[in-house]
Amino acid sequence: MNVLVCIKQVPDNSVVPKLDPKTNRVVTEGVELMESPFDLNAVEAGLKLVEEHGGEVSVLTMGSESSKTSLRYGLSMGAAKAYLLKDPAFEESDSWGTSYGLAKAIQSIGSFDVILCGKQAIDNDAGQVGPGIAEQLGISQITYVSEIVSVTEDTLTAKRVSPAGEEVVEAKLPVVLTCEKSLNEPRYPTLKRTRMANRAEIPEMDCAAVGADPAKVGKNSPSAIKKLYTPAPRQSGELIKGEAEEIAKIAVQKLVEQKII
Ligand SMILES: Cc1cc2nc3c(=O)[nH]c(=O)nc-3n(C[C@H](O)[C@H](O)[C@H](O)COP(=O)(O)OP(=O)(O)OC[C@H]3O[C@@H](n4cnc5c(N)ncnc54)[C@H](O)[C@@H]3O)c2cc1C
Repeated sequence: MNVLVCIKQVPDNSVVPKLDPKTNRVVTEGVELMESPFDLNAVEAGLKLVEEHGGEVSVLTMGSESSKTSLRYGLSMGAAKAYLLKDPAFEESDSWGTSYGLAKAIQSIGSFDVILCGKQAIDNDAGQVGPGIAEQLGISQITYVSEIVSVTEDTLTAKRVSPAGEEVVEAKLPVVLTCEKSLNEPRYPTLKRTRMANRAEIPEMDCAAVGADPAKVGKNSPSAIKKLYTPAPRQSGELIKGEAEEIAKIAVQKLVEQKII
């Protein structure tokens, strides 16, 4: 079973993100970076699949030179191969451009039975890239996976979290899964694997290498962010003191004044 995991490098979640209103981007310069946490659940799920069914895990990132650190983390957890999709043309790609670039890279790397993504990246929280990859490749997808129930030669059955509860879904292979935190507990890298990962050659691929059209990605993406801003902080509530009947009267009066009732 060949498994590919998409890992995104994101700003450290212990740092309050800074927004640049001029570029409408989250500032990443000078910020500690980390792997988007759900992507580590995806790596763990991939490693468990190959431990049970054979094969190997590859990890892929679309990003800059610094993203190699995230790929090395995937290797140190147990992935066999890592690939970096890096081209200035991809800068400022939207979710469609990101999915398109990653799908082109996946096609040029090889054929995979299972492609794993996080349920969402913790910086932009779009939750669109996994489904976008499945669409671009024309294959099945199961999103918000909380358990991989079973795998046969040509199907995978998974439990997914839905607003109505949980669903068990069977999909034909190849399939894209987007992973929930509750799916597993990502393993820690061993010292030996970390040393190997630090020495590993990570091939870089650009638009030309994967056959991606630069006219469709980056600044040429179908959508553009018009405004990126932090919502105004909520005003603190008002505490009404007194007897229950009196509190109820004041509360109703205030709700009427504010045209809520
Ligand atoms: C017009 C526009 C311009 C933008 N410009 C920039 C920009 O200049 N720089 C910038 O950093 N962002 C930019 N973004 C945001 C960037 O395109 C988003 O990362 C993208 O829309 C995906 O959303 P997300 O990161 O929330 O990923 P999600 O859809 O939430 O990601 C889900 C999963 O997909 C996988 N994944 C997502 N991105 C990658 C990746 N790059 N490599 C590997 N796997 C991945 C991971 O497994 C991740 O867990 C822009 C977005 C728009 C709409």
